[in-house]
Amino acid sequence: MLFDLHCHSTASDGKLPARDLVAHAIAAGVDVLAITDHDSVAAYAQLDGVDLGKLELLPGVEISAQWRNLGIHVVGLNVRIDGDGLGDALDSQRQARLERAEIIADKLAKKGFPDLLPRIQALADNDCIGRPHFADQLVALGATRTTDEAFRKYLAADRLGNVQQFWPPLCQTVQWIRNAGGTAVLAHPGKYSLTRSRLGELIDDFKAAGGQAMEVVSGRQDAYKSRDLANLCAQKALLASCGSDFHQPGQSWAELGAQSPLPDNCIPVWDIW
Ligand code: AMP
Ligand code: MN
Ligand code: MN
Ligand code: MN
Repeated sequence: MLFDLHCHSTASDGKLPARDLVAHAIAAGVDVLAITDHDSVAAYAQLDGVDLGKLELLPGVEISAQWRNLGIHVVGLNVRIDGDGLGDALDSQRQARLERAEIIADKLAKKGFPDLLPRIQALADNDCIGRPHFADQLVALGATRTTDEAFRKYLAADRLGNVQQFWPPLCQTVQWIRNAGGTAVLAHPGKYSLTRSRLGELIDDFKAAGGQAMEVVSGRQDAYKSRDLANLCAQKALLASCGSDFHQPGQSWAELGAQSPLPDNCIPVWDIW
């Protein structure tokens, strides 16, 4: 069984609408898919009445959170989309995104790039604004050649467009997921540029808040890294999840379902469902 429990649609910063995303997943041989848009579950309503064939779709979301001075992501899997306050919580997250986008747009306007926000808002499915939308507009204006360059110059962690301290605390986001009956998964723990001891502290705080799993495999990563994260996962007695973090076709490191399998010493998160 091929599980891909982390990917994005146009309801956040992905490039495929939900219908095309599931078709792409079926073509890639995925058996179980969770669409985990940033702070949105809008993709699921867009799939009402769509024939999924044998594909099993799990309700998911990727919530932005703050831990100490760091922005981190918590994936919620198997959440009840309607009810238990999750909808209100995600509404507040997208409102925070809009407020953050206004600050980012002001800062970029001072650098000579006016009117980025109206351009972004004119796009379809645009109620969940993220830095990738700014990156796309900077490319469209010819300010940078690629979105990668836009991040490096304007949007990455140490750049003006990375507005800090915007998200609710980690424990709050875990609680939202648990209250909605979901499993809370620490997203891509290898990507936060933390020392080993700080990563251990993050995982301990995440567990104390009610977190149950971590992504041992995120996108295509080398076997050494997977083994290392699998050992950490076992040591911390967490369940293991895996996903591509797919955003768009053509990024070979993050094609749907293309992530490597979980190492043998992992207890997969789906074992408890
Ligand atoms: P935000 O949700 O606004 O904080 O933006 C985070 C998103 O930006 C991530 O989910 C990625 O999709 C994307 N991203 C982060 N860093 C980079 C980068 N260096 N190059 C391209 N995309 C990035
Ligand atoms: Mn993203
Ligand atoms: Mn993420
Ligand atoms: Mn993601």
